[in-house]
Formats: sequence, C-alpha cells, structure tokens
Amino acid sequence: MTKYVYLFKEGNASMRNLLGGKGANLAEMTSLGLPVPQGFTVTTEACTRYYQDNKTIGDDIVAQIYEALATTEEICGKKFGDLDNPFLVSVRSGARASMPGMMDTILNLGLNDVAVKGLAKLTENERFAYDSYRRFIQMFSDVVMEIPKSKFERVLDAIKEAKGAKYDTDLNAEDMKEVTEKFKAIYKEEKGEDFPQDPKVQLMEAIKAVFRSWDNPRAIYYRRMNDIPSDWGTAVNVQSMVFGNMGDTSGTGVAFTRNPSTGENKLYGEYLINAQGEDVVAGIRTPQEISTLKNVMPEVYEQFAKIADTLEKHYRDMQDMEYTIERGKLYMLQTRNGKRTAAAALKIAVDLVNEGMLTKEEAVLKVEPKQLDALLHPQFDASALKAAKAIATGLAASPGAACGQVYFTAAEATAAAQSGQKVVLVRLETSPEDIEGMAHSQGILTARGGMTSHAAVVARGMGTCCVAGCGALKVDEEAKTATIGDKVFKEGDWMSIDGSTGNVYGEAIKTVEASVSGDFATLMAWADEARKLQVRTNADNPRDTEVAVKFGAEGIGLCRTEHMFFEADRIAAVREMILAETEDQRRVALAKILPMQKGDFKAMYKALQGRPMTVRYLDPPLHEFLPQKNMTEEIAAIAKELNTTSEAIVSKIDALHEFNPMMGHRGCRLAVTYPEIAEMQTRAVIEAAIEVSQEDGIEIHPEIMIPLVGEVKELAYVKKIVVETAEQVMTEKGVKLDYKIGTMIEIPRAAVTADEIAKEAEFFSFGTNDLTQMTFGFSRDDAGKFLDAYYDKKIFESDPFARLDQNGVGKLVQLAADLGRKTRPDIKLGICGEHGGDPSSVMFCHKVGLNYVSCSPYRVPIARLAAAHAAIMEKNEK
Ligand code: PEP
Ligand code: MG
Repeated sequence: MTKYVYLFKEGNASMRNLLGGKGANLAEMTSLGLPVPQGFTVTTEACTRYYQDNKTIGDDIVAQIYEALATTEEICGKKFGDLDNPFLVSVRSGARASMPGMMDTILNLGLNDVAVKGLAKLTENERFAYDSYRRFIQMFSDVVMEIPKSKFERVLDAIKEAKGAKYDTDLNAEDMKEVTEKFKAIYKEEKGEDFPQDPKVQLMEAIKAVFRSWDNPRAIYYRRMNDIPSDWGTAVNVQSMVFGNMGDTSGTGVAFTRNPSTGENKLYGEYLINAQGEDVVAGIRTPQEISTLKNVMPEVYEQFAKIADTLEKHYRDMQDMEYTIERGKLYMLQTRNGKRTAAAALKIAVDLVNEGMLTKEEAVLKVEPKQLDALLHPQFDASALKAAKAIATGLAASPGAACGQVYFTAAEATAAAQSGQKVVLVRLETSPEDIEGMAHSQGILTARGGMTSHAAVVARGMGTCCVAGCGALKVDEEAKTATIGDKVFKEGDWMSIDGSTGNVYGEAIKTVEASVSGDFATLMAWADEARKLQVRTNADNPRDTEVAVKFGAEGIGLCRTEHMFFEADRIAAVREMILAETEDQRRVALAKILPMQKGDFKAMYKALQGRPMTVRYLDPPLHEFLPQKNMTEEIAAIAKELNTTSEAIVSKIDALHEFNPMMGHRGCRLAVTYPEIAEMQTRAVIEAAIEVSQEDGIEIHPEIMIPLVGEVKELAYVKKIVVETAEQVMTEKGVKLDYKIGTMIEIPRAAVTADEIAKEAEFFSFGTNDLTQMTFGFSRDDAGKFLDAYYDKKIFESDPFARLDQNGVGKLVQLAADLGRKTRPDIKLGICGEHGGDPSSVMFCHKVGLNYVSCSPYRVPIARLAAAHAAIMEKNEK
C-alpha cells in the first residue's frame, strides 16, 4: 500500500519531492532535535491522486490521515475538540519548489464551541481563546470556503467603532465572543449551514483547499514563470499549534541568516510580541528588528541565534526561518533556503566558499542563471517604484527599466534622442525600418506581437528594455496618440516601462544603472572553469559586439547581415538592388553595397579581436526593405532618390507580395534566384578578413552560413558560388586563408536529412526560432495572440519560442546533431535561435553535445552560468 502520510519524525530532507520543501525541512529539523511543534505531512502524491480521482480524497488516504492525526494527538498529549486540552493545528501548503503566495496558511484549526472553552481554561485567558476562534472562522471561511474577507472585516470594524476601540487589542473577552457569534452568522448566511463543529471535517476541508490551491491562477502563473511542472502537486503540512499571542512573553517572527537584499552576513529579520504570524504579514503593527529581541528575551535570542547558525551550516545555505515564542519557549515553524536578490545571491555564494562551507562548483549552482538578468540592465530606483502604480501590463519582452518621453515614429524618436531627450518608442508593432529609432530609445512598447516579435528580438539583442503585446494599449499612429484605459499619451508625455515585469507606468520613474560587482566576476570565473559549452553572441554591429565581449562572449554565433542593410546610409542601395530589372542593374547596386558591407565586417572583426564570427547571408523576404503600399509619401521620396517612379515601386511591392512571407522567398532561396547577392557578401567577408588580418595582425577564419536550407542541393548550389568567389578574391589578393561554409538547421526537412546536408556543411547552427515555427506550424510573429489560451488550458506550460520544446523541436535537434556527426564526426554544432540564452534550453544543448550556444549580448553571462550548471549537474549525477 502506498504511504501517503508521514509524521515529521518519519521523514528527512532528501524526501523533498514527496514531502514538499516545507515538509522535508520540518522533518529534518525534527531529526536535528530542534524544537519543532509536531505534526505530519500529506504527500505530493496524494495531491496528484486527488486530481486523478476527480478532486476527491481516496478512503485509503483519509484513513492514513486519521491515523497520523491520532498519533500526533498522542505525541502532543492533546485531543481534537477536547474541553480540557484541545488539540489545534495549522494547515499549510508546501510544494517541492517554494511557491510564495500559493495558499494562505490556516491557523487554529480544531477550534469549535467546545474547544474554545478548553483553550480559555487552559490558558486562563478567555479573550485569547475567543480571539483565536474568531480568527479561525474568518480564515477558514476565506481560504477554504471562499467567503470574502471583507464581510468579516466590516463586522469587526463596526464592533470596534461601537466599543470605541482603536486596535483589535482594545477589545475585551466579551467583545471577542460577540465577534465570534457574528462571524458564525456570516458563515451560515453565506453557506446555508452552520460553521463545521467537527474538527475532522474542518481538517479534511482544509486539506482539499490546499490541493485546490495548486491550481489557482496565481499558482499557475508562478509555475509558468518559474518552469515548475504542473504534475508535481503540493504537499500539505498539518502541524500542532503554538501560540505567539499568549501575552508579553510570547511572540512570532521571521528571520534570515543573512541579509536577503545585500547578502551581508548578519542575522536579519523581525518579530512581534503577543502576535500570530498573520499579524506580521498584515502589517497592522510595526514589527521590531530581531536584534532588539536580545534585550527583551536574551535567552530566547541566544537560542534562536544558535539554531539559525546550526541550520545554515546544516543546509550550507542562507536560511529563511519562521519561529514562534510561546510563554518564553522558542519553537521553529519553518526553515528554507531563503530567496534573495541577485546581488545577495552572488555575495552569499562567494562568501560561503570563502568561509569554507561550499566548493566553488556548489557555489555556482547556488545562483540562478535567470537572476543575473537583474544585474545587467538599468533598474527603477526602489523607493521611486514603490510610489508608482502600473496602469497596464504586457509581455516582459526584454529586461530592464526605462523612463522617457513618448514618441510614435522611429524618426521622431531618433530626433528627440539626438536632442538629448530620453525616449520611450510606442508602436503598434515595430518593423525593420524602426531599427535606428529603437537603438536610440531607452525603451520600446508595442501593442502587438509576442516574445519573438521583431520588437522583442531586436530589443533583446540591443539590451534595450521592451514591453511587447500590451493588449490594453491602443495606438493611433496617424493622430500620434496612445491610450491606456482613460489615460491619453501625446508626443512628449512621460512614461515608464519595465521589461522585466511587463509593467507600464503613466509617469516618470527614476532609473539607476546596474553595475557589475566583484562577486559577479568571481562567480563567473568559477562558472567558466566548470562549463564545457562555449558561449557566443548574436550581434550585427560593433557596439553590440563590444558589449557582448565585455560580458564574456567567445565570438559571434550569428551576424544577421540584413540588419546592416537597414542603416540609413545604405538602404537606398539595397532598394536599388531590389528594384533592378536585370542582373546587370542588380550588380551595379550590389557594387555600391559591397564597400559598406565590407566596412561593417571589418569593424566587427576588429571588435572581436580574433574571436570567430559566423556571418549569415541575407535572410528576410525582400519586401521588408520596401515601404508599405499605402505609404505614398515615403514611396515618392524613394522614387525621387532612385530616379524612378512611384508606380514602378508600387508595382515592385505588388510583385513581391506573398501570402506567407515567412515561408516564401527568403533565406537561401534568395541566393538561388540572385547568386550575385551571395557573391557580393562573400567578397565582403573574405576581403574584410584579409584586410583586418593584414592591418591588425589578427588571424581570421571566416565562417559563412547559408540560411533556411531544406535540401542539400540548395546548399551545394550556393556553396559553389561562395567557394568560387572566395577563391577568386584570395587569388586577386595573393593571400590564402581558411574559411568554413556551414548552414542553419531551421527547417524540419534539413534536420531529418542532416546526414546528407553535412556532406556539404562544415558546421550546423540550429535556428530554433524558425525550427520552432515550422515544426509547430505556428507563426512566430502571431502565436503570442493565441498561446495564452494554451497556457490557461494547460496545453502548454511555457512559450515554445522562449523555452525549447525538448520533446518535439529538441528531438529534431538531437536527430540532426547525430546525423551530422555520422557524416562528419568533427562537425561544429551550435544554436543561434532565441533559445540560446534560455537556461533550460542551454542545459539541453549541453546534453545534446553542441559546441556552443549563441545569444543576445545581455544574456551571455546567463548562458555561461547555465552552461556551468549543466556541466556540474552532469558530473554530480555520475
Ligand atoms: C532562427 O530562425 O532561429 C534564427 C536564428 O534566424 P532568424 O531569427 O533570423 O530567422
Ligand atoms: Mg531563421
């Protein structure tokens, strides 16, 4: 028979999956001999069963709960509902991973009309007993029965007013009895039955409520944000009550063994005398700093400090503890590894190594890769943020905080920025022409688009804060206004956005630059010692390249050449190439682009100082370089510049129109149609490499990457052009250099025929943005609109464009890696889709045995740390 219920004294810390974090730690503290009020844990498996059994608790589980209850009553020498010595418990959720705010704790369970008298007798304190009872009724009604808290608060306020009482503590025993009766009446009115008097019924209802809370919207959201699987379930802890509200020698509090915001090695926390846990949380009375407990109850303080030290050494990590003092006696209610800011995480990890408590590898595992994000971008000033109120929320598309004046076009954003203003660019959605305006903005806000929309991808690449897909935002591009609710923004109005939370504020909030501390560098050096994966960056200009190198990038894994084509000084030549009717005309235009492209590559090679760079050839559908048909002014201006007519341009726009451009004339298909584009790009790459080699004495081995290949013959065709051109350039220059030609694997057909493709390709780079798009058949630009429904209905737990779908897309990656290595054992393998900077996806890449991941500059440290985690965890498993 499966065991679904464990007494605290039957468990230990290694049973976390079964007992949840809280349950496992209560068991561990019990076995350490610490003063823990005894109780039992109903396992996470019981929660899973509850859902399998149509939200009912099976008879076998009920029987085990009652048995554990009887044993606990015996241990504590008390009985449920007893007039002389009533047994009271707290009921709390406790999942495997800590999930703050999943369910509120229920205290004083077991109180009824009889037990309350027992409690009064026992404590010789009637007021205390009825205060506990009325609190329990309110909490049970709210948390278990979903009767709104406000109904109770209103009644309590009315009684306080009638009695002339300012605080709850001003009410006497008789008043509390009256409150209790009134609370029971509310319950009856709401539920149509009396408040349950049988403590066992109370207990089973409370346990069911905890199981239900696993699936409340807060919990679902938290799981999605933190990659916690929904089938883990939560455990329930039933623990004998101790009372912090038994007078001036009682109290309750929380404490951390170190400061959770700075990491300082000093006991940190607070307590309230004569109070229960909820009073600390509710913030009605101001708690005292823990150091003052030394004066109030010196012995208790000494004991607590010693326990804190024991627990930290035992768990070898900073602990977050809850405790209660009942008539001068200390009880530990909970301990867990404390949540901490990124800065504190780094300091604590480094300190624990210096104190000899952890090895470097253990310390590296203590810092969550995602957390580093907070250290790499500007942030809102904490106190300024406190005073602000968000008016809308969109997708947290690119982290950091931005505060600026609103502009609605890229050109105006650029002009404003150049005149010294701080800018938030507000658009329906961004397009490639907006690049310059985006680069000049502090932040970007769009009404449409998902996590891999243009705005999101480009903003992350630039390290610019971005909130995308903000549904509440209405943008009128013509009138140049934006509306959120009833707030209207005109050009120049102030706005603040937070790309780490998705929050939008209709006011200016002060921001501060984040800085990289010494502990950060120390920990990253340890991570680098451990990892096997190399980390490159996706960058297409020298500025991003320098940022990435500063963050530890070991090269460029993806240089998207089209981004250079949008720069103001070259877009005209690009358009001339697109409008060309003949190959000769095209070549004339390409000859104008060549020196600019070569100049870009030279600047990149110089910024890289010998690190490798993979240059990806022209990829997007060509219509992206032309305005939309209705943009008549723009079209006329282009016609004038290029000495042609608006009609000619419009007819080209018509000719380029595709119903499905992402599956249209793009990628290597462009080079198949217009080989001269690949010729020009090859000449630019090879000439740049030769010149920088000569000028700077750096050895360069270009890596040329052909995108969107689905059939080996496509690659063979383009490769022939590249090789012929490269050979010709080298002959002209009289210089030989090694270069490699590879391809992206971003079409499912390429993945399944990777053995053939590897005959031509010297390296593969997995373009998992397109590979995800084409494997699911989800448009990467539009899927955000319907994926929310998928999360709500639990079809998906996370965004497959942000976190690699390991079961599907990942299988294709694994297959292609295996097939590629079969043909070419030394084939170089990398990933350059957005997933290259996502920690769980990086860990997957390690398992598949890729050589490198490539991600946007601001995610490089995150990828380095995630790669280290993967290597260390693999080693530990062995
Ligand atoms: C990809 O498809 O994963 C990729 C990196 O290319 P892009 O995002 O430019 O299509
Ligand atoms: Mg792609």
